[in-house]
Amino acid sequence: MSARVLVVEDTPVNVKLLEAKLLVEYYEVLTANDEPTALVIAEDHIPDIILLDVMMPGMDGYEVCSRLKSNPVTAHIPVVMVTALNEVKDRVRGLEVGADDFLTKPVNDVALFARIRSLVRLKRASDEWHAREATAVELGVTNSAQNTVEHNAPGSVLVVAEGMYDRDLVTETLSLQGHVVELAEDDEQALAMAKIGDYDLVLVSDGNRTQDALRLCSQMRSEPETRHRPILIMVPDNEDDRLAKALELGVNDYLVRPIERDELISRSRTQIRRRRYEERLRDNYTLSVNAAVTDSLTGMYNRRYLESHFERISARLADAGKPICALLLDIDHFKNVNDTHGHEAGDEILQVVAKRIQNNMRGFDTAVRLGGEEFVVLLPDSSLAAGTSAAERLCQSISKKKIAVSSIVNGLDLTVSIGVACILAGESDLDNLLRYADAALYEAKRTGRNKVMTAADNVTLPESGASVQSALPSPMLSPSPERAAS
Ligand code: GH3
Ligand code: MG
Ligand code: MG
Repeated sequence: MSARVLVVEDTPVNVKLLEAKLLVEYYEVLTANDEPTALVIAEDHIPDIILLDVMMPGMDGYEVCSRLKSNPVTAHIPVVMVTALNEVKDRVRGLEVGADDFLTKPVNDVALFARIRSLVRLKRASDEWHAREATAVELGVTNSAQNTVEHNAPGSVLVVAEGMYDRDLVTETLSLQGHVVELAEDDEQALAMAKIGDYDLVLVSDGNRTQDALRLCSQMRSEPETRHRPILIMVPDNEDDRLAKALELGVNDYLVRPIERDELISRSRTQIRRRRYEERLRDNYTLSVNAAVTDSLTGMYNRRYLESHFERISARLADAGKPICALLLDIDHFKNVNDTHGHEAGDEILQVVAKRIQNNMRGFDTAVRLGGEEFVVLLPDSSLAAGTSAAERLCQSISKKKIAVSSIVNGLDLTVSIGVACILAGESDLDNLLRYADAALYEAKRTGRNKVMTAADNVTLPESGASVQSALPSPMLSPSPERAAS
């Protein structure tokens, strides 16, 4: 995995040393030797990770970190503080200003690359959601989730620890912070609980148990229900290889024994906050995508969805030369209905018509509300004849049964007109398909309404469409056979 690394360090020889190590592993390296340069480079080049020297003359690593984290452009870039200090209070201070991890000088290579890979991987996963959110915000279908997550919101934490000491320390410390702590007896139970419980964090103790914590972490990462659940692992001191392995498996963060309370509080809080935030991004996205592609009155898909769905269907059916059929349906004299019974009744009627359309479709057909009182049903892999009989059924399902409307006793009689057209996938586009269907619909209206007409190769279009005609078996624009016979 390649990544862009920004090294912030004032001593040239240290920069060279770190740069050389990173280049050997094919990382792209940017360097800055003072605070203003670091901030500018971070903002202009958006590195995947920043290695930040804490002690530099004339500048304070904590201050730099704090600024990076308070700038929305750089806030999501992981920061690893490289420090000669290894006091708990220094680490906690770093965590408080948003640092993601610490490396002690002289930097150990295994530790360095394990941190980089792990943090970059975690960042890429959340970048994906940020990109989607940015698109949704740009489309105006959502607000940013950024401001909706509380900084210190309590969370629910699952703890897997056999040793009394770890267990009591963790439970007591986190409970005092307002978190809800649950304990798992063993790994099997932990996995089962993590799958069904909505935990914000799973804390796994390693090295003082009969079971292998890394196996549990690996299982959690491979099960779909627990894949994104944050894991904080507690590891023994001086076991760099094991810690590197844990990071490789995808744990989110770690604590080295002896566990320091403040560090536990700070790291748990960060994980819980991130989980909340990403959860919010995901929910927002699902909601906004739904809002963007559905019609709020009928719950049907809208034109935007139809456009992208058509492209997918068309690409899938093009090689096999399969046809795609479209039914364009328009309610007859709907303006009169509105004028007579009011707009609210009109809305109710639209909802009932939408239901009837949906009840008349096959599972792989797609119905959309195109706008106003116009609907489209897209029938993939359907001939003009098949589309026409589907349209015929639909037309009758509306005319044969009264529409229930709350303000109209005994309901209302309603009819629709439908134009049917067909193209060969890959040979024409949605615009053409709809223009043909529209020409047929126009004929249906012109010749009396409450009927189905099919587009054929002598249909005159406002602007001539091209390659649709070969897919149209019927030589004439004509009423459907069933109608003609009745
Ligand atoms: P035709 O048989 O030729 O289709 O006549 P029509 O009256 O159905 O067609 P026209 O295009 O003249 O009028 C469509 C009407 O649909 C006008 C508008 O008030 C109504 N309409 C469009 N969207 C909505 C909506 O969301 N709710 C309601 N209640 N009415 C709508
Ligand atoms: Mg209309
Ligand atoms: Mg109409």
